[in-house]
Amino acid sequence: MIVITGASSGIGKALALHFSRAKHPLLLVARRLAALQELNLPNALCVEADVSDLASFSKALEQGERQLGAPACLINNAGVLFAELFHQQTTSDWEKMLQVNVSGVLNGLHLVLDKMIQRQTGTIMNISSVAGRKTFPGLAVYCATKHAVHALSECIREEIADHNVRLINIAPGNVKTSIWDQAVPEEKKKEHPAYHRKEHENLSADDIAKVVLFAYEQPQNVCLREIVLAPTRQIK
Ligand code: NDP
Repeated sequence: MIVITGASSGIGKALALHFSRAKHPLLLVARRLAALQELNLPNALCVEADVSDLASFSKALEQGERQLGAPACLINNAGVLFAELFHQQTTSDWEKMLQVNVSGVLNGLHLVLDKMIQRQTGTIMNISSVAGRKTFPGLAVYCATKHAVHALSECIREEIADHNVRLINIAPGNVKTSIWDQAVPEEKKKEHPAYHRKEHENLSADDIAKVVLFAYEQPQNVCLREIVLAPTRQIK
């Protein structure tokens, strides 16, 4: 089975649709169960779980394994973003980003890697960001979480390479999804550049899903270690 976290919207939802069309059995994980079920995909188990809670994520995976078999691939996609200058940001906002974007990814890796190593096959795909390669004022903690994903991805890839397990890091630029809906307080949205992007300044979630599926469909001996993809007209 292919495990996709954060499949209830945006990039995760597009991944679910594209991997489903390619006939893969899916375990779809997010906190909003109804949104997962609305996708109504064949051979897909929808489970409500919080990836930052190891016990909750573990139960979801156990359910998936019982119904759909061992995970051939885990896509660590779930993520949150809160944009604010660091000195004005609440501690709860940066804690949420650390919990979901870093601990959520670590939990996923912790839960599937041992078994992939035992089976001597498997693929992990981490959805990071260009914010894991560059910094953007107003996104200090978000950038820190995505830089952490890049460091973890590369280090763990080196650790597991000889077990025939792939670790692929995907770093999108601007993508039109609902991630920005909660990112900035209502009164600041008017001023914030992210809310004034033109169509050509965003990729679609479909653009990302196509590239992720392409990377997954390479033979097991081919590991696209890192893919940075952004709109052609995105400068940074
Ligand atoms: P969305 O807000 O549309 O989707 C985020 C998904 O993550 C939702 O399905 C949400 O589901 C899930 N999620 C959030 N917190 C948790 C949690 N604790 N446990 C389980 N699921 C959770 O955003 P995107 O599709 O844009 O984001 C997907 C990934 O892509 C993120 O990692 C993001 O950082 C990354 N990214 C996005 C970019 C963009 O411009 N949009 C650019 C670069 C990277 P639910 O609320 O139901 O739990």
